[in-house]
Amino acid sequence: MVCSRLCFFLILFIFIISCAPLSIDQYEDESFLENPKYVAYEELKETLKRLEKSHPELAKVFSIGQSVKGRELLVIQITDGVNVTHPGRPAFKYVANMHGDETVGRQLVIYLAEYLLLNYGKEERVTKLVRDTDIYLMPSLNPDGFEISVEGSCESPNSLGGRNNARNVDLNRDFPDQFDKNRSIEDAYIYDGRQPETVAMIKWIRSKQFVLSGNLHGGSVVASYPYDDNNSGKDCCIETKAPDDAVFKYLAHVYADRQPIMKRGDTCPPENFTNGITNGAFWYSVQGGMQDFNYIDSNCFEVTFELSCCKYPKAETLPDHWRLNKDPMLAFMEQTHMGIKGFVVDAKGDAVKGAFIKVQGVAHPVKTTNLGEYWRLLVPGQYNITAIAPGFKKQRPIEVMIPINQSEAILLNFTLQRRSPLDNEPKDRSLRHDIDGLSVEDFKHHNYDAMVAFLRNLADSYPNITRLTSIGKSVERRDLYVLEVTKDPGRHIAGKPEFKYVANMHGNEVIGREMLLLLAKYLCESYYSGDERIQRLVNTTRIHLLPSMNPDGYEQSLVALKSECNRRNQSSENAISAQWREATSKDLKNSVEMVCSLEENAITKIEKKSVEVVWRSERDE
Ligand SMILES: [Zn+2]
Repeated sequence: MVCSRLCFFLILFIFIISCAPLSIDQYEDESFLENPKYVAYEELKETLKRLEKSHPELAKVFSIGQSVKGRELLVIQITDGVNVTHPGRPAFKYVANMHGDETVGRQLVIYLAEYLLLNYGKEERVTKLVRDTDIYLMPSLNPDGFEISVEGSCESPNSLGGRNNARNVDLNRDFPDQFDKNRSIEDAYIYDGRQPETVAMIKWIRSKQFVLSGNLHGGSVVASYPYDDNNSGKDCCIETKAPDDAVFKYLAHVYADRQPIMKRGDTCPPENFTNGITNGAFWYSVQGGMQDFNYIDSNCFEVTFELSCCKYPKAETLPDHWRLNKDPMLAFMEQTHMGIKGFVVDAKGDAVKGAFIKVQGVAHPVKTTNLGEYWRLLVPGQYNITAIAPGFKKQRPIEVMIPINQSEAILLNFTLQRRSPLDNEPKDRSLRHDIDGLSVEDFKHHNYDAMVAFLRNLADSYPNITRLTSIGKSVERRDLYVLEVTKDPGRHIAGKPEFKYVANMHGNEVIGREMLLLLAKYLCESYYSGDERIQRLVNTTRIHLLPSMNPDGYEQSLVALKSECNRRNQSSENAISAQWREATSKDLKNSVEMVCSLEENAITKIEKKSVEVVWRSERDE
């Protein structure tokens, strides 16, 4: 009797013990929080080396370059099986301390490295993260600035020493900017004249296909997401959405919602952020920032996290900062696995590198790696996805549903079919194709001779679906060319409707003229690349395109433009300008204002760009 009662209580006791909610923290190793202090450069090198040595299968330390003063820009890579490549495993990075005196993020990234390595294999969340994610942690992009910063200083000094690099340049204003009027894809533009820290980071971003990134700062407490600037010239207060605005807002919330001080939004008065997040450009405009560069020039989505009101708080506060930010930092890293991922291969199963994964309605394709891998972050919802690659046929979009509370990216692989030369394939078609399967077009204005050559080339290349005729002559005896695009051109077929576009009847209104030339080319090329929509259109409609109804006016506009430039160079600018303003139309005048103030090569660039932008935006509608 006594025994059975004893046994009952014993069993009850064991039951209660086993059901008691034990804090996960009890199992975690956070011994690195003892005796908190900031780890300076020399000790940082040792710390990272120690971690690499004690976890050779999980951690690898390397440098992406050197600072102005020759300090290494150190990175610790953490992933299961770190010494081999894992196709399909997405890459994540945290970059801290690009402003040398914003130090909390720097130390938290070091803590994070310790935490992941100490708790791998013990804590399920950490194990999963390290097993499934290729993690890169960079404690400092500006080690020179950190070394001269002073603990306890909450604001940057007037000299900005410490914030900036050793040449007193703000690294977060030193990246190529999307609105830079000199912007170019040339290496000279991307790299020349930039700081060594910036160059190292640009090269790293371009060579490694990161999926997601956090950029850690201080001096405020908020999650700030792209875009960081616009072309308004204003310092702030204009919300400037990236094509993936929904994803960025979601990512900012993932962090801020879990960080109680950030979520409040008013931790550092007088600043007040709704729910602790903000669009970067709305907060204040940053030209040449790293965040936008990641998004615009690579696949990587980056969000900026400002972690403390005081830029360089006393070291004794570091454990509190860790406790506030640990869960948000981990949760943000876990978002590397949202949306869709997969491989793009050809019919033989070989990787297709440089293919574009397009999400219908979002003007931001991501590109496949050398292994054909891709990752595309998406918030819950319904999407149409296509993979497009030069030299391959277009395919129908695939419909994908991203569920709420997604924990793994949905696997979506693509097999692309190479284009084969068709019997009626035109002989001299360009083999170069851009992301839409359209051959690379040198975006520029075409004067009369260039326009005629362009149309003749199309007519010669696509004799089965085009016919070039002149409907008459202008006053100065130029032909008014019409390109017919249809199956069996040259005759009216009963029941087949006829359509026409007419452009450039005002000779100095030139964009429509270029749009029709591009449209003609697009119709012809898409017809033969297997685009069903275009085939249907061209088969069932007799399309007539008249790019210029007023070729004389166009040529006169050009002459006027050139002579105005010459006059400006030769004589008193003010007098001529006044005359000019009275004598010309607004459109042409604006062009001249722009053109005359620039070098010849810059003119060409801007002309090309404006044509390209209009073409892309109008076609997508
Ligand atoms: Zn900063």
